[in-house]
Amino acid sequence: MGDTPYGRQALGLRPIINVSGTMTALGASIIVPEAIAAMSAIAPEFVEIEELHHKAGAAIARATGAEAGFVTASAAAGIVIAVAAAMTGENLHAVQRLPLDTNGLRTEIVIQRGHDVNYGNAISQAARMAGATPVLCGADHEVTNGQVADAITDRTAAGLFVVSHSAAQSGRLGLREFTALVHARNLPVIVDAASEYDLTGFLAAGADLVIYSGHKFLGGPTSGIVAGRADLVAACRLQNNGLGRAMKVGKESIAGLIAALDAWQVRDHAGIRGKERVALELWRACLASVPGIKAEIVPDPTGNPLERLEIRVTAEGGTSARELAQALAARPRPIMVRGHQVDRGLFWLDPCNLHPGEAEEVAQALRDLTA
Ligand SMILES: *Cc1c(COP(=O)(O)O)cnc(C)c1O
Repeated sequence: MGDTPYGRQALGLRPIINVSGTMTALGASIIVPEAIAAMSAIAPEFVEIEELHHKAGAAIARATGAEAGFVTASAAAGIVIAVAAAMTGENLHAVQRLPLDTNGLRTEIVIQRGHDVNYGNAISQAARMAGATPVLCGADHEVTNGQVADAITDRTAAGLFVVSHSAAQSGRLGLREFTALVHARNLPVIVDAASEYDLTGFLAAGADLVIYSGHKFLGGPTSGIVAGRADLVAACRLQNNGLGRAMKVGKESIAGLIAALDAWQVRDHAGIRGKERVALELWRACLASVPGIKAEIVPDPTGNPLERLEIRVTAEGGTSARELAQALAARPRPIMVRGHQVDRGLFWLDPCNLHPGEAEEVAQALRDLTA
C-alpha cells in the first residue's frame, strides 16, 4: 500500500484510519483484490463495451434475482439514469431531448419528504438532473397513505423510495405500502438502496428498479448498479445515448464490479463479522470505566448485518463528542470517526474498513485520549 510511484504516500497524502464507514470523502472502501486484478487485466485491452455491459448485466441478474442489470458510474448516477428511464421508456428521441425538453413526457417523481436525503447532493436534485420535478409528500416524520396517493397524478413518472440511515425511519410509508400505491397507478417504483447489503429483498418486495453502490459494502471500484425489470433496464441502457454519456462508466469499472459481485457471493461474511465484533469489544472495553462516556455496540439502523460502537459523551467527563472526535482526527495517523451527529453529543466507530493492526491502534488512541 502506498509505496508505488503514485501510491498514497508518494502522492504526499496522509495515511487515514477509516472508522467512519464507506465514505466517498475518504475513498469509499477497501477494493477487494479480485476487483483490482480484474481492473488491471482489462485496462490494456480493447473490448466491445456493449458485450461487456451484457456480461455485467448477467452478473447483476445472478446476484440480485432481477430480470436485468446495468452498471453506472455511481449510485448517484444510477438514480439520475433510472429517473430518466422512467420518463423516456425506450424512446430514443425522448432520451436525446432530456433534461430540458420533456414535452409529452410524464415528469413528476413522487418522494416522501423524509426520503429527500443528501448523500453529497440531495436526491431531489438527482431527479431534477434528469429533467424531472420531485414531488415531496408529507412532512419529514409524518406522511400518510392519502398524501402519497394524492401526489400520484397523470404527470407522475415514478415513485422513488430511499433506504438510508439518514432517511426518516419512522412516520413514513414502508416499501410495500408505498409500492402498492404506485403500482395501483401502473407506475414503477425506484429504490435507492445504495448502502444496503440486501441484494434481493427490495426487488422481492415489489420494487421495479433498485440502485446499489458498487464501492460501498461490495468493495468494487467506483460504480453503481441498477437492477430490475428488463424493459426499464433497457431504458436505462439507452440513456448512454443521452444524459448518461456524461456519467460514463469505463471498461475497468465494469470488469471490476463483475469481480466484486462474484467475490461478494463467496466472501466469508461470518468470519468478517467475527473480526469486526472483536474490534468493537476491544474499543468498548477501553471506554468502559471512563467518566462521562457511554459506549455501546449498536446495530445498523437500516438492518444491514453490521454493528458499530456508539460513543455518547456527556459534560461530566470535561470533554465533548466533537472534541474527542477532533482529537482522534488530529493524531499523527488521523482516525476518522462517523461524526455526522457530534453536535448531538455522539459519534460512532465503524469497523467495516479496517486493515490489520488498525483496531489496536484505535484502541490505543482511545486509551491515550481518555487517560
Ligand atoms: C452513498 C449513497 C448514495 C450515493 O452512492 P454513490 O455510489 O457514492 O454515488 C446514494 N444514496 C444513498 C442512500 C447512499 O447511502
